[in-house]
Amino acid sequence: AKESELLNGKLVKSREMYDKARVHLSNGVASSYQLRDPWPIYVDRGEGSRIFDVDGNEYYDFHNGFGAMIQGHGNPVIGKAISERFPKGTHFAVPDEDDYIVAGELSQRFNLPKWRYTNSGSEATMDAIRIARAYTHRDYFMKIFGSYHGHHDAVMISISEDYDKIGDPNHLKSLPYGAGIPKATVPLTVPVPFNDAAALEHRIIEMEQEGNPPACLIMEPCLMNMGIVPPEPGYLEAVRDITAKHGIVLIFDEVKTGLTIGPGGATQLFGVTPDMVTVSKALGGGLPMGAIGGTEEVMSVVEDGEVYQVGTYSGNPLCVAAARANLEKVLTPEAYAHFDDLNGRLMEGCTDVVKRFGFPGYAVGFGAKGCVTFSPKKVVDYVTFREGQRSELNELCWLYAMNRGVFMTPGREEEWTLSVFHDNDAVDAYVSAFDEMAHDLMK
Ligand code: PLP
Repeated sequence: AKESELLNGKLVKSREMYDKARVHLSNGVASSYQLRDPWPIYVDRGEGSRIFDVDGNEYYDFHNGFGAMIQGHGNPVIGKAISERFPKGTHFAVPDEDDYIVAGELSQRFNLPKWRYTNSGSEATMDAIRIARAYTHRDYFMKIFGSYHGHHDAVMISISEDYDKIGDPNHLKSLPYGAGIPKATVPLTVPVPFNDAAALEHRIIEMEQEGNPPACLIMEPCLMNMGIVPPEPGYLEAVRDITAKHGIVLIFDEVKTGLTIGPGGATQLFGVTPDMVTVSKALGGGLPMGAIGGTEEVMSVVEDGEVYQVGTYSGNPLCVAAARANLEKVLTPEAYAHFDDLNGRLMEGCTDVVKRFGFPGYAVGFGAKGCVTFSPKKVVDYVTFREGQRSELNELCWLYAMNRGVFMTPGREEEWTLSVFHDNDAVDAYVSAFDEMAHDLMK
């Protein structure tokens, strides 16, 4: 209660803006993910690793636009690319040179030869699933139980909170997340648990026997929407073998992991190449952009015109110019070395606090991403995530951090994201806020 009071006392102008916002914006926000109790902060500007709100409060930004801002706020390299592009025109809906330069760069990083662009991660996963369906001539597809792949109908199934309602989280079912998803399409999306190759193969065989073989498995190779859940050794290799054996397109959804946990995302880090990959968030240098990569074979259904992979703003020149600068000049080997060093320091600091105060949890991270998972035992899938969750600790962490100038993602599903401008001071501020919380809680 004390921490909430402190926070609310600092957010007076934000409150005023929120009241005005609610007049014509539903809930006062542009997207439901921006909602925050009791009201969101209104940001005035960002600079490097920091943001400044309309009340003049300053924070180190570990939220980083849900992981999209690893190049940092106002990065001059991105600024130059955008300001050079702007006077030449920002939209034509015809190709330009940057399109194929960026595709070439992505091909190298993700080891997949053919690319297309979208405006968001959701569009990328939507189009990737359609391409897989067209390629295999199959309607059903699989996703990981509890995972998030964006907000289109096909993937708003078997995610998070709805499992409270069924009582038994082990009971795998295709359940819609929220209203408005047609009942007829729900059963086409079939969830399977993460880190369990035997369960995957078992379910595939069942589906084949039912006459509904799956078109694809879409999965985050390292889960990033229930904190961070890495693949167990051998799991991704087994998934690769099983999907290949059954003629199922393997899609790695690297909207979060791509470009953040390493230069070529989880695909490169774990050394398993899927048939398709989706990338977004950190790609566009802070502008909205997504990409789909695939093998020659799978992308042939796009090339021969069978699948319409389209969009007025796909490959928007401003976004692609920013992405090119981001890939060529910002997300360099030095940037990834910086993320690794700093993330190591942050995880060590958090691990030390966890141990000193006997917290039920552990720090986990890769590249620019990390989190403290509050759970007495190791989280390996959605069920263990739900069993171990300590929402009140995440909430407390958020409040303590905000009151000490550290801006974090609000939910237990999310993780921190570093930028190229984050430094030891930023990381130490994070650890010290966490330390104070642990101290006050455990005293
Ligand atoms: N896929 C994953 C793994 C995500 O984490 C997200 C967003 O958080 C999406 C897809 C959807 O991306 P967007 O919000 O850009 O539509």
